[in-house]
Amino acid sequence: MGELEAEKHVQYILSVEKRKDDFESLLMEHLRINGAYWGLTTLDLLRKIEAVDSDEVVSWVMSCQDQDCGGFGGNVGHDAHLHYTLSAVQILLLFDRLDILDIDKVSDYVAGLQNEDGSFSGDIWGEVDTRFSYCAICCLSLLHRLDKINAEKAVDYIVSCKNLDGGFGSIPGGESHSGQIFCCVGALAITGSLHHVDRDLLGWWLCERQCKDGGLNGRPEKLADVCYSWWVLSSLTMIDRVHWIDREKLAAFILNCQDRENGGISDRPDNAVDVFHTYFGVAGLSLLEYPGLKPIDPAYALPVDVVNRIFFGK
Ligand SMILES: [Zn+2]
Repeated sequence: MGELEAEKHVQYILSVEKRKDDFESLLMEHLRINGAYWGLTTLDLLRKIEAVDSDEVVSWVMSCQDQDCGGFGGNVGHDAHLHYTLSAVQILLLFDRLDILDIDKVSDYVAGLQNEDGSFSGDIWGEVDTRFSYCAICCLSLLHRLDKINAEKAVDYIVSCKNLDGGFGSIPGGESHSGQIFCCVGALAITGSLHHVDRDLLGWWLCERQCKDGGLNGRPEKLADVCYSWWVLSSLTMIDRVHWIDREKLAAFILNCQDRENGGISDRPDNAVDVFHTYFGVAGLSLLEYPGLKPIDPAYALPVDVVNRIFFGK
């Protein structure tokens, strides 16, 4: 199956960071803080995060904060959103630089987006989705501020989005989807509420996501895609059912999606690479315990040593 082109992926990510004006960067401009999180976490999993100037990254992240509400935008001057706020906090944690943050201001912004029924809106515009429940719960847990929300109601809302197939949707009655399942299972794991998950039923639905080519898809009848190596595999890890899929075939599928010349990983073999799929490919291989990679925490989506530093002081 060939090996992981670790050094080429490092060069690819560093080159994307530098090419700020090209087409891909323009398209991704509003997502830049998410892109930075994907790229930097990949570098850390590859044990190369010291290749970037941490002061430069940290000061750019801080310039994305909305000084009025306390949340973070996707880029300088953009509107604050829970998703970008989580990425900002995750990036600061990669560099162990939470000291620069007004933690109560950020966590008040996050907690303020909880609705009466326990759900979360992504921003002031009010769209509700279990993805935002995950962003809020993960972010507040990382900041040691879960006590700022009604966690019981937050869990009840997520449980109300559980389906008969064992999966979870974006709102009550919404179709099960792997990305959504990661968010709900992750939020339940962080709040110590995994007893609400039917592990065998959900494990069965998740392991059926493996296609003939070894890759995983997001829903029945869809093609395999490297990003689901993360959404599906992290969920299987949290419910202790990873051994229900063929791990070697999945690793081979991910390795087949590498650009062996210029670095980066694509969604499926021979497609164009991007930072998003490079991150999910490397994170998936980390969950599969690929040699040389740092282990990643399946709920917090950060390297295990970073999570240990946050909760156990190293
Ligand atoms: Zn994808």
